[in-house]
Amino acid sequence: MRLGIFGGTFDPPHVGHVAAAHGAVAAMALGRVLFVPAGAPPQKHGHASAEDRFRMTVLAAEDEPTFAVSRIELDRPGPSYTVDTLRALSGADDLFFICGADAIRDLPTWHEWEELPKLAHFVGVTRPGTTWPPVPYATYVPMDGVDVSSTEIRERVAAGQPIAGLVAPKVEAYIREHALYVR
Ligand code: ATP
Repeated sequence: MRLGIFGGTFDPPHVGHVAAAHGAVAAMALGRVLFVPAGAPPQKHGHASAEDRFRMTVLAAEDEPTFAVSRIELDRPGPSYTVDTLRALSGADDLFFICGADAIRDLPTWHEWEELPKLAHFVGVTRPGTTWPPVPYATYVPMDGVDVSSTEIRERVAAGQPIAGLVAPKVEAYIREHALYVR
């Protein structure tokens, strides 16, 4: 199967993530997209707990039969290195690692980054405000980008501003119920 791997902090997952995953499925004929929330992101400090980020990602993905969510990085101790995840998932499937331009620009700072293109083909998704750099091991998929970030959502919640339309209704309900991101 052509398997998309979508790694992220998902703090929280938002409509931009879902649109990016749909765009990658359509452009690359992926059979499935596995959302992989980072357990302990090496380069980002989580705001919500890893379990809360995982549960929100499940809520964001569960109505789409092509999407699934993996606990692989949550259940592995230590920092969540993408190279370890791709090695663990490599086997029968062809792996396609989905990411935005901000992530691909950071790639040279990732653990064992030169191994990554050997393990997966990279799929670049449009992220408004960013420009996709030419990288030989990736396919850029132009799509209608959705201009939203998890940072914006956290800031809006903290400021008491609405987030409807920026996250799935079930994700918003989870954020409210668990009082996430309130200062
Ligand atoms: P934060 O604001 O906390 O930095 P984020 O919105 O960038 O978070 P991440 O979970 O860090 O979200 O992103 C995971 C992956 O999703 C990255 O590859 C990122 O480029 C991509 N991504 C995030 N938001 C969008 C978006 N609006 N459109 C396309 N890709 C996105």
